[in-house]
Amino acid sequence: MLDRPETSASGRKPSIDLHGLVTELFPINRSLTGAGVRETLGLVARHIDLEINEVASGTPALDWTVPMEWNIRGASISTLSGHRLVDFADNNLHVLGYSKPVQGIISRADLARHVHTLPDQPDLIPYRTGYFADDWGFCLSHELWQTMTDENYRVEIDSDLSSGSMTYGELFLPGQTDQEVLVTCHICHPSLANDNLSGIAVMTALAMRQARRTRRLGYRFLFLPATIGAITWLDRNQTMLDRVRYGIVLTCLGDPSPFHYKESRRGATIDRAVAHVLRHSGHQYEAMPFNPYGYDERQFCSPGFDLPVGCLMRGVHGTFPEYHTSADNLEFVRPECLDQSYALIESILDLLDQNRTFERVDGRGEPQLGRRGLYRAIAGQREAGGATQMDLLWFLNLADGKHSLLDMAIRADVPFARLEAAARLAVEAALVRERPSS
Ligand code: ZN
Repeated sequence: MLDRPETSASGRKPSIDLHGLVTELFPINRSLTGAGVRETLGLVARHIDLEINEVASGTPALDWTVPMEWNIRGASISTLSGHRLVDFADNNLHVLGYSKPVQGIISRADLARHVHTLPDQPDLIPYRTGYFADDWGFCLSHELWQTMTDENYRVEIDSDLSSGSMTYGELFLPGQTDQEVLVTCHICHPSLANDNLSGIAVMTALAMRQARRTRRLGYRFLFLPATIGAITWLDRNQTMLDRVRYGIVLTCLGDPSPFHYKESRRGATIDRAVAHVLRHSGHQYEAMPFNPYGYDERQFCSPGFDLPVGCLMRGVHGTFPEYHTSADNLEFVRPECLDQSYALIESILDLLDQNRTFERVDGRGEPQLGRRGLYRAIAGQREAGGATQMDLLWFLNLADGKHSLLDMAIRADVPFARLEAAARLAVEAALVRERPSS
């Protein structure tokens, strides 16, 4: 239903309606575990060949333990006369994530200790969780809470915390080499469109696209409950982590903010690749140094792994007013912003896949370009935005077996695709050979 006709590779359009997928996933109640996560991954799996993994509650994972599974069927606060004031069916943000079951009549004073509101944003419902708190609670607009002046209320949370499993999704697309690109997003937030669903939708479309292509690198797409999902995946995959050459965590990609890229902890090629694509994208952007707060880059960049993983966002978590509130909704996330984010990441993946190192067959002096028809070839490419003569000269000069195409593009300050086009001309003219990647 969501599939769109295939567009050309240069069009850089996702083959699914990203905002449509966000809209479809929006009402589902997700958390670290439970039926909503399975339903979400089930919908993603209609588009890609997703492997769905279940890890039993209580399974140790590094310093953590896979939690009990939480499921909820309904919740409400009503007046004693039966008038429903707060209903989980209206908005799943109304219940504190991982609330234990409760039922009965409670005084307003006692209820106040279980109610979360945003006095500074009185019309919005906050998003709160109590994963390891053994607690229950409701989230509601401050405006509503201020109208609730009865002495007693009837509360009900029909939930259960029981031994079950945690669910995550993985798709691995092998490449011609055993080097891998890790692409991840989190799947544990309920009805929040930017923080969670934008990443899921963009990543699904990227996985569909990479699945159709010839790949030099392998691509591993992980749909994870935040923190515990990443920790569990890392624990179970420790022996293959040296294959991860590049990684990117995707989040908050549907709002109209400029792009923000948080660099890896160790400083890595992925950081230079993303900065280069952003620089030539025409979009506003900012690079941010690594810090140990945010999304699952915290786990991938922990000192015992220190993987080359950064995080790409538009709005930065915690800094936009809609963050973790009911205003992070389907209007806040815009179709054109999702499509832009998709196109940008597609360019990043293409750069990584095509970033090879070449060396001149005979590096002494400049080769004679005219004799090899290269001036004519360049003139023929001009219309299509191919390499210029200067690009080719840069390429032939830096093809010393030490500079990658990305190094060259940064040094020449031209878009990567033009250096890559120059490389193809030089390969066809037998002027260079590719160095095997290590
Ligand atoms: Zn969040």
